[in-house]
Amino acid sequence: MEKACDVCGAIFDATRRAKRCSPECRKTAHRKRQRQYCAKHREERAEYNRKYYAAHREERAEYDRKYRAAHRDEMVEYNRKYYAAHREERLESVRKYRAAHREERAEYGRKYRAAHREERAEYDRKYRAAHRGERAEYNRKYQAAHREELAERRRKYYEAHREERAEYMRQYNARKDDESSLIRLQTALRALAEHRKETA
Ligand SMILES: [Zn+2]
Repeated sequence: MEKACDVCGAIFDATRRAKRCSPECRKTAHRKRQRQYCAKHREERAEYNRKYYAAHREERAEYDRKYRAAHRDEMVEYNRKYYAAHREERLESVRKYRAAHREERAEYGRKYRAAHREERAEYDRKYRAAHRGERAEYNRKYQAAHREELAERRRKYYEAHREERAEYMRQYNARKDDESSLIRLQTALRALAEHRKETA
C-alpha cells in the first residue's frame, strides 16, 4: 500500500502500519516524540525537583558538608590546578568585566561607601585600637629595615618640593614677624598706659 511518509513526505510502499519511509525518518520521528514528551513533562519535573530539594534540604546540606570535608584536599588541589591552568583566561575575563562595568562599579562603590561611612569609621577605629601595639612594632621594624631607603625617599621628596617648602617657610616667618610686631606694639601700649597712669 502506497503512503506519504509523515516525516519527509516521500511516497513509499508501506508494509502493515508503517508511517515512515526509512530508518532515518523513523529515528527523526522518535526524536521528535521524545522532545515533545520532555517539553510536556519539563514543568512537572522542575516542580518535582523543587519539592524534593526543599524536602531534603537539611539532608543535602549535611551530605555536601561531609563530602567536602572528606574530599577537601582533592578539591583544593583541583581548584589550585584549575586556577593555575586558566590563570590568563581568568585575569583577562576579570579585566574585561571591570572595563565593561567601570562606571557602574565606581557608582556602586561611591554609594556603598556613603551608606556605610559610620560603620567603616567605627570598624577602622576598633581595628586600630585592637592592633595598636602590633602596628607600632611593625612600623618600628619596617623603619629599621628600610632606614636607607626611607632617608633617600625623604631626601628626594624635599628636593622635589624645595620651592614649596621655601615659600611655606617665608610665609611662616612673615606670620611670626607680624605676631611679634603685634606683641611689641601691645607691650609698648601697655607701657605707655602704665606711664600715663603714673604721671597722671
Ligand atoms: Zn521519510
